[in-house]
Amino acid sequence: MNKNEDPKLGEECGVFGMYDLDGEDVASSIYYGLFALQHRGQESCGIAVSETDGPLRNVSTVKGMGLVNEVFNADNLGKMKGDIGVGHVRYSTAGASIAENTQPLVLNYIKGTLALAHNGNLTNALALRQDLEEGGAIFQTTIDSEVIAYLIARERLKAGNVETAVKEAMKKIRGAYSLVIASPRKLIGVRDPYGFRPLCIGKRDNAYFLASESCALDTVGAEFVRDVEPGEIVAITSTGITSDKSLAAPNKGRCIFEYIYFARPDSYFDGTCVHTSRLTAGRILAQDHPVEADIVVGVPESGNPAAMGYAMESGIPYGTAFIKNSYVGRTFIKPKQSSRESSVMVKLNVLREVVQGKRVVMIDDSIVRGTTSARIVKMLKDAGAKEVHVRISSPPFLYPCYFGTDVPSRDQLIAADHSVEEICRMIGADSLGYLDIQRLSELIGGDEGYCRGCFSGNYPVDPPKEDIRGEYEK
Ligand code: AMP
Repeated sequence: MNKNEDPKLGEECGVFGMYDLDGEDVASSIYYGLFALQHRGQESCGIAVSETDGPLRNVSTVKGMGLVNEVFNADNLGKMKGDIGVGHVRYSTAGASIAENTQPLVLNYIKGTLALAHNGNLTNALALRQDLEEGGAIFQTTIDSEVIAYLIARERLKAGNVETAVKEAMKKIRGAYSLVIASPRKLIGVRDPYGFRPLCIGKRDNAYFLASESCALDTVGAEFVRDVEPGEIVAITSTGITSDKSLAAPNKGRCIFEYIYFARPDSYFDGTCVHTSRLTAGRILAQDHPVEADIVVGVPESGNPAAMGYAMESGIPYGTAFIKNSYVGRTFIKPKQSSRESSVMVKLNVLREVVQGKRVVMIDDSIVRGTTSARIVKMLKDAGAKEVHVRISSPPFLYPCYFGTDVPSRDQLIAADHSVEEICRMIGADSLGYLDIQRLSELIGGDEGYCRGCFSGNYPVDPPKEDIRGEYEK
């Protein structure tokens, strides 16, 4: 890896798995599932399928750098034969964005084959990797998912079945992981003991699904069965579903940022609709940070429902100020500061007609480095807005995330060493208000079982002693 590139190893991924008990091919449904999860990762993707009644170790895999519709086509999908399989979409920062790190990982070992797709970050992957390497293991990739796959394969040699092997591996790994695994004749879904990253189960006729988000189940016409619970291992076989929840932690640590920014608004996690939680955030902002204004606008996409909530609560009309180029992915895809700056303008344009001469309330989901807000405020003012009042539907970002959301290190977080007043000046706004951290739980119906470490510095699991991001580049 190139040391000169952004020295982070963030992972924001989507996983999808399917087992058709009637023996039909699953590749095309997995493709559509990944397509619905594309917002979770745009750098690489892959699908691995096999036949449950076919020869062991006969896995058909297609992986590549790029979007789902760039990597897959009718030809390569048509050749993928198999009734069980898993898929993955991946976003990482530049350093780790190489073809070898694409998933699913397919591992051949003495008991057969494991195809594994992982969303999340481990906090002890380096130490585990070192231990395994000292014991003779050879790794092909630099992602911690391979450590998980290796541990499961090794445990499987002693365990009676793959679920037990997964459970033994879970006792060794720490951090965030939602996994979908196709072992030759079982589809396994796993959520870490705190449930940092989401995972849910779906069903369509005689086929079962596992997906990062329920919107992917809708896309393939599957009905939502339930969420996989934190700490749960589900095994889907031809005889039904088994579940083991014995490794669940006493407290949950579901990522609140999934609701604020990351997930699609039409997804449901643990009974809460993401769209509704964004509306609630907007309502709270209107209660806590009211302002006299003529129009409320959202920064697409996740700012829009929050802006609607603000408008409903305040009575100020909701409007559309930004036109988004739908063919551009998320701004963070370009990891370098200079390219991120210009990509704001590539992605968004202002409807001059709507904002000219107006006092505008502009809602975005977060301020990380401050680049985006500064750009957008300037765009609104250049288009004739009289005042721009920025409201942010999350608390200030103060700490990095070690659990699968790409939040940069503290020295790059504008809120870490600037007051709200200073940030307001730096982004050129007339006023600035953040969501109060005390009210975060209202986004998920008052449930306190979530991780807000990026805002509070208190993580449900100890963060790694040293910042692991970038370690693999040494
Ligand atoms: P910045 O320009 O660094 O302040 O970034 C803020 C913008 O990035 C906001 O508009 C967010 O929607 C978006 N954003 C926040 N967190 C992330 C993330 N982890 N990955 C990608 N985009 C993000």
